[in-house]
Formats: sequence, C-alpha cells, structure tokens
Amino acid sequence: MKRSIAGAAATVSRRPRIADVRVTPIAFRDPPLLNVVGVHEPWALRSIIEVETDDGRIGLGESYGDLETLGNLARAQKQLVGLDPFDLNGLTAKVYEAVAGQPFAGQTFPPAGDKALASAIAAFEVAFLDLQGQIADRPLYEILGGAVRERVAYSAYLFYKFKQHKDDPGYPPDDWGEALTHAQMVDQTRRMVEEYGFGSIKLKAGVFEPDFEIDTLRAIAKAFPGYPLRIDPNGGWSVETTRRLMPKFEGLLEYLEDPVNSLDEAGEVAKFSTLPLATNMVTVAFGHIPKTVRLNAMQVILTDHHYWGGLRATQTLAHYGRTFGLGISMHSNSHLGISLAAMTHVGLTIPNLAYACDTHYPWQVEEVVEGGRANFRFEKGALAPPPGPGLGVRLDRAALATLHKQYVDCGIRKRDDAKEMRKYRPDWKSDRPRF
Ligand SMILES: [Mg+2]
Repeated sequence: MKRSIAGAAATVSRRPRIADVRVTPIAFRDPPLLNVVGVHEPWALRSIIEVETDDGRIGLGESYGDLETLGNLARAQKQLVGLDPFDLNGLTAKVYEAVAGQPFAGQTFPPAGDKALASAIAAFEVAFLDLQGQIADRPLYEILGGAVRERVAYSAYLFYKFKQHKDDPGYPPDDWGEALTHAQMVDQTRRMVEEYGFGSIKLKAGVFEPDFEIDTLRAIAKAFPGYPLRIDPNGGWSVETTRRLMPKFEGLLEYLEDPVNSLDEAGEVAKFSTLPLATNMVTVAFGHIPKTVRLNAMQVILTDHHYWGGLRATQTLAHYGRTFGLGISMHSNSHLGISLAAMTHVGLTIPNLAYACDTHYPWQVEEVVEGGRANFRFEKGALAPPPGPGLGVRLDRAALATLHKQYVDCGIRKRDDAKEMRKYRPDWKSDRPRF
C-alpha cells in the first residue's frame, strides 16, 4: 500500500518555481519626433525583465527604463524568487510590500492613482504570464481567455519631426526625413499606409498652432478619404481653445484625444464636445474611474497594460468599459517587440476593443528579440502575435547586450523632451496649455 502511494506521488510533476529575476535597462535609437513637451531624445529608455524558473524557462517583460521604475523593479525582483509563476496574487502581494510598503489586502484604489505600483506589477505580470503559456504550451492569449479576433488593428501614428537630431547621436539620421509641412505629413501618412496597411490615422499634435494642425488633418483627409482620424495634443490646449476648435472637428475625427491637461478640464470640455473624448493622460488608473464617470469626462479610455497593472488589469478595464459605456482603445510609448507581443495578445482577447490601437513600432529600427522585427508582420494594419507558447518571442542576448551598452553610454537616465528641445530653441518652455 505504501509503495502504491509513493508511486502515485512520483508521477505528479513538480511545479516550477521562480529561481531568478533579472532587469536590464536598455536604450534604443529614437527619431526626433515632436510633441507638446518638446522633441524625442536620440535614445529611448526601456527595461527588459527576465523571470527564470528552476527548470530553465525564461518569461519576458518590457517596461519603462527611467530610474524610478528601475528602482521599484529592483526593490521587488528578489522578493519574487520562490513564487509559482501561476501565483499572480502572490506576485501582487510581493510588489505591494516592496514598492508601496503595505500588505496587499484588496484595498480601494487611491483616487490620486497608483501608476508606479501598477507599473511594477505589470512589468513582472507579463513575464509570469509568458511562463504560464510556456508551461501550458499555449499562446498567451489562450491563457488570457482566448482570442475573439485573429489580428489586432493598429493605427498610423503620425508625428511632426525634424530631419535629424541636433547633436550627432553616433548613428545615421532616420530615413523618414523632415515632416513640418502639410505636404510632408501627407507623404509620411502615405508611407505608413503603404508599408503597414494602416486603416486608421492618428496625428500627434500640440506642436504648432492648432489651426495649422487642423489644416494638416484636412490635407490628410483629402489624400486618404474615409480613413478614421484622431488628433492628440497631449493636453496642450485650454478649455476655451478647445471650445473654439470644436466645430472644425465635426465630420473630421472619430475621437478627440486629451485636448486638455486635467480631468476637471476634460469634464468642462465634455459639456460642449460634439464628439467622443479619449484619454491616456487624465484617466490612467482604476482610482480615476469614479471621477471620470461622475463628470462624464471621457468616452474612450486608451488602455495600456504597462501602467494599468498588466494584461489582466487591461481586461478588467475593458469590463469597466462595458459597465460604464466607455470605448476601449490602446495607448503606446516608444517600445520594442516584447511590449508589442504583449499588447497584441491582450488585444486579441478584448471583445470591446473598438478602435485601432496606437503603436510607435514603425518609428523604431532596433529589436531585442530573436528574429528581430520580422516577428511582426502587419497585414492591412493589423497584427497577429508571433506563433508559439507564451508571448511567442525569445530574448536575443547579443542584442540585449548591445542595447544595454547603448544605455550605459548614452547618459540619459530620465526622458526629458523639453531639455532636448532647448538645444534647438534655447527659450523653449513646456508649460501647458500652450495654446
Ligand atoms: Mg495620447
């Protein structure tokens, strides 16, 4: 009898545990893209998260690369050793203790938001879920409940831009050229649409006088009739400027993204807006949702798993969208393929993802995953995740070493687009509203 019990136990496979967690800051080339704050620096920062199990699997994550994020990840990473990669509540508890200094007890989200904490949870959660997929031999979207579509639609993300960086970054200028006129922006749109097949178009705004930017939109609308358009001045306009501009948007835009810089101001705009308002700036945490709903300030939330708390939190946010009648779209910062794979997996699972998602990916040229950018083939502007279990991507160690060396050498430790802009215009100020 004893022998048969021992035999049964021996057939139960041992569950892998987290044996090591590594966080590597990286820097990759970024073009001189303009926005309300200033201009992108020559190097964009990210962090690459590796969570390794005691049976040799490595789950991947990608997050921000600023010192605050790196500090939070460093505080949490050693606490995760010994966890089961399926124990996401355990992960959450460890990060709460390490980053917020408090036990995780299902407490109410703070009205001021909890972006740093949620970002740290997200960075590791993606790697844990990648491991779950590898262990189950299933793609990540199946771990998340299954796909409701085969591909995730992304939009063309247009930027006014300089031809090249002010100081020589040690690499050749990007091949997109200058984009400061309506005609140049139409050319940029054409290349985006021809190379990627995008069916929606977003203009990063807040750079020039709003009437100039609206004329850019009109030129694009004329060249690409029927394409849904959006404009995002990153909170660069006042309530009164937005009121003056509103009639010009009718029939032109599918939604207006972050015209103003606070939730209270957005509530004012919503009273006279004739089209949906969208945000990735003023409603950026679960604690912001009650006030957003109370003011009816937003009609579309641009989710972003990097700061909403991960891929499952993104799905929860989509549920809130259904609860409160909010549209769901997706925000992006400059990112590489681990993030793009994660965005695409979760995008497959959200039934009410009603708009094409943002991505900066066309602006990047470097990669940190095996096989490089060929992992991501846009068809008619839409992407399927790379095949295989989990995220479907593996780390290219040589590329990681190169991008880490670029981080060490570039000297940038926190993104500062205003400081970069002062190289071009010494009197530049990034105060909002600009217009
Ligand atoms: Mg935005």
